[in-house]
Amino acid sequence: MTMNKSEIIAYLNGQDDIGLFAEADRVRRSVFGDEIFLRGIIEYSNYCRQNCFYCGLRSGNREAVRYRLTREEIFESVEIAVAQNIPTIVLQGGEDPHYSADWIAGLIKEIVGKYDLAITLSLGEQGPEVLRMWREAGANRYLLRIETWDKENYHKLRPGRRWENRLDCLKVLRELDYEVGSGIMVGLPGENVESLAEAILGLTSLDLDMIGIGPFLAHPQTPLRDEPNGAIQLTLRTLALVRILNPYANMPSTSAMECASRGARIAGLRAGMNVIMPSITPERVKRLYNIYPGKNADSDDSEHSLNAVMEIIREAGYRRSFSKGISPNILRRHESEMTLSK
Ligand code: SAH
Ligand code: SF4
Repeated sequence: MTMNKSEIIAYLNGQDDIGLFAEADRVRRSVFGDEIFLRGIIEYSNYCRQNCFYCGLRSGNREAVRYRLTREEIFESVEIAVAQNIPTIVLQGGEDPHYSADWIAGLIKEIVGKYDLAITLSLGEQGPEVLRMWREAGANRYLLRIETWDKENYHKLRPGRRWENRLDCLKVLRELDYEVGSGIMVGLPGENVESLAEAILGLTSLDLDMIGIGPFLAHPQTPLRDEPNGAIQLTLRTLALVRILNPYANMPSTSAMECASRGARIAGLRAGMNVIMPSITPERVKRLYNIYPGKNADSDDSEHSLNAVMEIIREAGYRRSFSKGISPNILRRHESEMTLSK
């Protein structure tokens, strides 16, 4: 299905929420049935060399209490995923130069050598050689949100970084045959429904395998502390529109939704999302991964956070899947490449 910018804006303004969410759910069911994929997220470090205005982990936040996980601690989390039959792990963190690219490659090799898991990385912007090394080590997927489609705003919010570089990085990931994920925050300061509609069309033009979208949440230890949070209803409309335009992408109902408003993760699933990503970061440090306020605050331990996720899936009326949940989009792309080369 296609939609033009003014149709998208009308939906973002609330033209027909009931029809929009019903259509998004219909589209998700036609591709994924009633299954929800789980991804266990391991937040391995909250040190970051970047200084993004929106993020609590920014290097300029002197109040943040920092931590790094050891190899052993990362393996403890990996083993939680294995024990709980969660077939995909996501290694996420700040851009922390303490861990060398070789060290990360060694870690990936060790994990895939030992366990049958899909490995997703979310380690920020990296050069092509590093991304290649990690792919060859056995990583399958990479998440790198473009954050906004408004270049000017991107340059304001990510000092010293260029929007075009982020986009190039996504292209490199595609060339390296990663399953590629990107996304945005809804309600960043300086944005409106017009820029949001452009982001929805922009993301769709990237033909992504995974799309992660959540509301912007103002963090008290950042320069954006006094800005309003992204609105939950606007985020839900965005999710539904992106789902309708990208039927084959894996899309999470994010924890930022839940932090913004209790129960919003259920609403996200009902608006067409098919993935949930419980944190399996060790309890000792979990709450310190404070990208936005409330992040990881709801769960005492991994079992508790997993139980909460199972409850959300049940309540929303879907079923937990035990599959690795490869994106049908990359499978389609591979098939069409094979047909072309015949
Ligand atoms: N350092 C990596 C991964 C960790 S940040 C990176 O930046 O890509 C993961 C995501 O958290 C970011 O892509 C951003 O979209 C989101 N995020 C950061 N600060 C946020 C905030 N204040 N509110 C909502 N989401 C935020
Ligand atoms: Fe670092 Fe990512 Fe936070 Fe930016 S959003 S400061 S890159 S952790």
